[in-house]
Amino acid sequence: MLGHHENKFSHGLARNYKILVLGIRFDNLNLEQTLLKIKEFLSGGSRHYVVLPYSSFLIESRKDEEFRQILNRADLCLADGIGPVIASRFGSEEKLRGRVTGVELIRALFEKFGTERSFFLFGAKAGVAQEAADRLLLKYPDGKIAGTLNGYVNDQEAIDAINNVKPEILLVALGMPKQEKWIANNLKKLPSVRLAVGVGGAFDFISGRVKRAPKFIQKMGLEWAWRMFAQPKKFFYNLKTVVIFLKLIFT
Ligand code: UDP
Repeated sequence: MLGHHENKFSHGLARNYKILVLGIRFDNLNLEQTLLKIKEFLSGGSRHYVVLPYSSFLIESRKDEEFRQILNRADLCLADGIGPVIASRFGSEEKLRGRVTGVELIRALFEKFGTERSFFLFGAKAGVAQEAADRLLLKYPDGKIAGTLNGYVNDQEAIDAINNVKPEILLVALGMPKQEKWIANNLKKLPSVRLAVGVGGAFDFISGRVKRAPKFIQKMGLEWAWRMFAQPKKFFYNLKTVVIFLKLIFT
């Protein structure tokens, strides 16, 4: 168990430091603070990327050093799931204050920056990214979506499609660890992109194809349990994840 945090003052914003949870360096920010940080990123000239780990990320990162490093080099690392939040309560010097989910972050980014910055939604099955884009535009009709592309194309096809329409904010939904590796390998080939975010299954939720748990279940931190029963095909896989994760925390 690792319990350590490092202090660092960055960019004149509120104190921002990383908290180490099972070997992954998390930023302890809520959604509002995350948006402030991203605003700062977008106003600078360089490229940034954001990762949103949940329990499976932490399990995978123990086996895959490249993945662990990509997560730890991210400009922002926020807990998408309750797993890292719980783990931080047991082993870290400081608790993570809560989740910032991919779905919430996408909606908030689009609400806040969608009129000034153009977005590209890359990932998920054919048609899903476009449906997610349509849903976002329904809510924020002035937002700019430069394009969408499904997640079952080769790298060059994706790079060309993105470079053709020059978005500034790229949302990548290829599942972990694929999406983080894709961003790490390809971000430098996308000159227009200022911010890339790995968003997991978020397009499936935003498009309405997959339902999220009711709000009260989310608030209780039990969305993972809801998902186990909502996805019977993945029940045993998810159960195994929970067991491995609990072992990681408590042994
Ligand atoms: N996905 C994709 N390309 C791939 C693999 C996955 O676009 O090669 C998409 C998938 O359709 C889904 C999302 O990535 O929308 C998340 O995938 P999955 O459910 O496997 O991962 P998790 O949500 O567990 O991270």
